[in-house]
Amino acid sequence: MEISIDSRSVIAPEATMFFALKGKNHDGHDYVQGLYERGVRDFVISEKRKEFAGLKEARFYEVENVLEALQEYAGRYRREKKAEVIGIAGSNGKTIVKEWLYQLLSGNFSVYRSPRSYNSQVGVPLSLCGIGESTQIALIEAGISFPGEMEKLEQMIRPDIGIFTHLGDAHGENFTSLAEKLAEKAILFRHCRMVIGQQGEALETIRSFNGQARIMSWGEEEEAEVRCKTLQKNEKERKVVISYQGKSFELVIPFPDEAAYENCMNAVCVLLWKKIPFEHIAERVASLQPIAMRMEIKEGINDCVLINDYYNSDAASFHLALNTLMMQDEAKERAVILSDFIDTGSEEKVLYQEIAESLKRAEVSLFIGIGSQLSRYSSYFPMPARFYADTDSFLKQENRENFREQVILIKGARQFRFEFIAGFLQKQSHNTVLEVDMDAMIANLNYFRALIPEHTQLAVMVKAFSYGSGSGEVASLLQYQGVDYLMVAFADEGVALRAEGISIPIAVMNPQPEAFDNMIEFCLEPEIYSLEILRAFDRVLVKHGIENYPVHLKLNTGMNRSGLDRKDIPDLLAFFKEKRHVRIQTVFSHLAGSDEARHDAFTRQQVECFSTMTRQIQQHFDHKIMRHILNSAGIERFPEYSFDMVRLGIGLHGISAAGAVLQPVSSFKTYISSVRNVPADQTIGYGRRGITKRDSRIAVVPVGYADGLNRHLSNGKGEMLVRGKRVPIIGNICMDTCMLDVTDTDTQVGDEVEIFGKDIPVTEIAEKLDTIPYEVLTGVAQRVKRIYFKE
Ligand SMILES: *Cc1c(COP(=O)(O)O)cnc(C)c1O
Repeated sequence: MEISIDSRSVIAPEATMFFALKGKNHDGHDYVQGLYERGVRDFVISEKRKEFAGLKEARFYEVENVLEALQEYAGRYRREKKAEVIGIAGSNGKTIVKEWLYQLLSGNFSVYRSPRSYNSQVGVPLSLCGIGESTQIALIEAGISFPGEMEKLEQMIRPDIGIFTHLGDAHGENFTSLAEKLAEKAILFRHCRMVIGQQGEALETIRSFNGQARIMSWGEEEEAEVRCKTLQKNEKERKVVISYQGKSFELVIPFPDEAAYENCMNAVCVLLWKKIPFEHIAERVASLQPIAMRMEIKEGINDCVLINDYYNSDAASFHLALNTLMMQDEAKERAVILSDFIDTGSEEKVLYQEIAESLKRAEVSLFIGIGSQLSRYSSYFPMPARFYADTDSFLKQENRENFREQVILIKGARQFRFEFIAGFLQKQSHNTVLEVDMDAMIANLNYFRALIPEHTQLAVMVKAFSYGSGSGEVASLLQYQGVDYLMVAFADEGVALRAEGISIPIAVMNPQPEAFDNMIEFCLEPEIYSLEILRAFDRVLVKHGIENYPVHLKLNTGMNRSGLDRKDIPDLLAFFKEKRHVRIQTVFSHLAGSDEARHDAFTRQQVECFSTMTRQIQQHFDHKIMRHILNSAGIERFPEYSFDMVRLGIGLHGISAAGAVLQPVSSFKTYISSVRNVPADQTIGYGRRGITKRDSRIAVVPVGYADGLNRHLSNGKGEMLVRGKRVPIIGNICMDTCMLDVTDTDTQVGDEVEIFGKDIPVTEIAEKLDTIPYEVLTGVAQRVKRIYFKE
């Protein structure tokens, strides 16, 4: 039985048990009906809804708490398996230790590891359910954010062996001290037979939690059981000598940094414990690979979309990648290019039969198998398929024209070097694009959610093309994440969202009378910013014969832009003396300086004024009117004024007013389209403003002020990132292009260039331009293609 918690990723409906989790963000019960129609029959639910009665063939398992049921199911599943479970906890390095152990142990054992960083209350049960009958060692990561969580993870994972990677310096907002965080993590090791970690205080604490466990410590100190000493290190590698049980041997770790050293030593201890001979350990450590990059989605040739995931190959990561494939553009056909699986430990025949089965269910319409095993089992694959012995034969025999308007999953083991296939299928002339990281957006959303009280609703501002990131896709994500309201500036933005299938309430902040009919037709709720607009809208409702239409009343409390003033309240209340067709759903105001401490007194005054005015209004009505005043900065700095709803804007895009480290969502990228050598003392571009001070290499990138690259960044004021290095813009920015001085890099045509994103923050550019990040984000031109990423 497969288990699923995400309605979008069900591959084998009839063999799937769906756990209808209820999160703050969304409610799995909403998807039951749709899943039933797709063939799912088994549902774990906590609420028996009326509409379920009609699902005649469904089997419902009603429980009090679906998450707990999932965890219990996973715990039981894990205990039924023979596998020895290694539990990994710590602040950093968990995923790397897990991936490296996987690389190091796979030669001797059938190893399973939790996919990516599935290490949470929901991720761990899903991970555990991937352990197979023949798995000998299962590597499971445990991550926590709140006190009390490890208890539950421990009960599920019950690791035989524990690895404690590293206790970071930051204790995190949800823990009062480092000691508290350590104590919490140590809970994972409570029943372990053995615990591995670096010699030191943290390990002693763990010892105090579990007196029975054998502790295997490593370190430079005398007391460490596995003693290690760095002999030599350079920028590429580190040589260490290890002494263990009276013998010594040398290791070359192919990474120079401290973190890699720690992660590697934790993994090496497991191998020593497993009595793997020293020379094998040394050999494998020397060929350790940097860990799997994340899956990436790229634009391919002929309108194809590529999902590149060629850093590992095992059944679990294959299924994850297949899920991603299914979530892409439904209008496109699905193709999969897959290599043989390496060291899976399961029987080939069964494995490939299952793979073929999953591909069939995922409605894959073209399959390309690469490797001798897949070629041998070619008859299992019923869809149009081609097989090659190796990657080279593929590249020699395939033609780019064979791929058109498809979503192509490129999934293979590292040794097959599928990066060449990705290169072959990748769009040759790249574009200037805005990449939008949906995972970062969700993380930011959750950060703000955690700041407001449980009962407070969340509205997200998606005006101005969602601050430049694109409306339809972002709105769909927000709808899926259970946001309560979306707000747009103009009615046509709202109509466009309805056309994209957005069904949650949408408020329009600048409703124009000409658009009223349209708004009513598309269920868009106006902001009422004056008595005139209130009367006008009510008249239109009368004409349509619609009653109780929700509207949002805007009050002016000091911004002095729009909204009813205090003196307007008597007229407002007088208007409602008669029966009216509008219904005041919410009443709100906007803060003028919530992001700056110097305005805090004014902010409080605004809130005060808001409270008084809303009280006066509420008294007049029987129904409860929701109140809201906070924007992003307000949520961070004045969560005590959350009232019934808050309006999140720029924060979703990774900008914090309180110095929080949020994730940047949008990356503005281009590529090097040409490079030329220019001797010293020449001028570059229009107006001859750029001057080469030395013999230079000058690169052209196809992005100009018409794309939203502000021309004030010309002549060295702005920088871009190429091959990890910042390089200055030289000369004046042109309409569609600009030039970079790349003399200090070895960049080549085709290299990716970051204009802003993870390395060059939007805030930095805003400061240089003496403006705010809002303007930089919304300034990215419409002609720049938006590309969305989600793991
Ligand atoms: C744009 C806007 C917001 C969001 O502001 P941020 O500073 O981006 O969080 C909130 N309320 C109103 C009325 C807005 O126009």
